[in-house]
Amino acid sequence: MNTHLPLWQRQLAEAFSSVADLCRYLQLDPASLPLLPHCKDFALRVPRGFADCMVAGDPNDPLLRQILPLQDELEHYPGFSHDPVGDLNAVAEAGVIHKYQGRVLLICTGACAINCRYCFRRHFPYADQQLSKQKLQQALTYIAARPEISEVILSGGDPLLLKDDKLSYLLEAVSEISHVRRIRIHSRIPVVLPARVNPDLLETLHKLPQPVVLVLHANHANELSEEVANACRSLKQQNVTLLNQSVLLQGINDDSQTLLQLNEKLFSLGVLPYYLHCLDRAKGVGHFEVPEKQALALMQSLQEQLPGYLVPKLVKEQAGAAHKIRLA
Ligand SMILES: *Cc1c(COP(=O)(O)O)cnc(C)c1O
Ligand code: SF4
Repeated sequence: MNTHLPLWQRQLAEAFSSVADLCRYLQLDPASLPLLPHCKDFALRVPRGFADCMVAGDPNDPLLRQILPLQDELEHYPGFSHDPVGDLNAVAEAGVIHKYQGRVLLICTGACAINCRYCFRRHFPYADQQLSKQKLQQALTYIAARPEISEVILSGGDPLLLKDDKLSYLLEAVSEISHVRRIRIHSRIPVVLPARVNPDLLETLHKLPQPVVLVLHANHANELSEEVANACRSLKQQNVTLLNQSVLLQGINDDSQTLLQLNEKLFSLGVLPYYLHCLDRAKGVGHFEVPEKQALALMQSLQEQLPGYLVPKLVKEQAGAAHKIRLA
């Protein structure tokens, strides 16, 4: 099928989209799992390479838990809403979120290569926020008219889901705005679909005059396979600064050994930890929340065991605030 497509696009097309198929692959009996009966508005989506990092037969595997739609999502938790971080109030133009001074975030696409159950963007009205050619021009005009904007962040969804020609067009257009000093990309794709870090992407990054910062998203050391390590190596060769953000998730990475191993492993790949996010309180994700007291104790333990540069900043997003709030 589709052999003319680049490898990463074929892998994307072959990602698991059915719980039954995934369970069969992992030798799990779906009848023994408390599955969500249907999840049409936020379907299961898992690239095979990510599933290969899971332990077959383990229903509590920390990678499986990030993507498996469970009945827990129906549980009501007070304070969990549809726009927990106030992004909808910060939409400056379609696809442009200007919340923090000096930085704007561009919503490049609503889609991701993987659907993480804890994601606050699961309720985001993306249809309105896609960057069409015309909206992209408006976004560029918005940035060009504001010399105080020194950093443009490509986000989403996952911006590396854009095809090579569209992505290079976007990056080059942003890089031509003279007051943009840094370009940042927020992407989970080098972790969940490392084949996307292909020669075309590397060439595009290589040609940009501004320094590029790529903020990855890994929550557990098991996500960091040899393919991911190779992708990181190629990015480092283009002088891309590699950082990582994680979300603190109950039953997945809420113990100090797991976080320690994650940050050690990241460093061995040339990636420095940046943020450890407290869960954004979106509807349907309450069961992933780690109490703040426990989060602070975990940070204390990490600080005792790791050099300061391997300790991420524990932060939470607060609607209306001028920056992310640091807890530790
Ligand atoms: C997180 C975020 C940023 C970037 O914040 P940093 O603290 O610089 O990483 C920018 N804009 C929005 C809307 C964000 O959510
Ligand atoms: S990759 Fe990021 S934006 Fe996409 S579903 Fe996962 S957490 Fe959400």
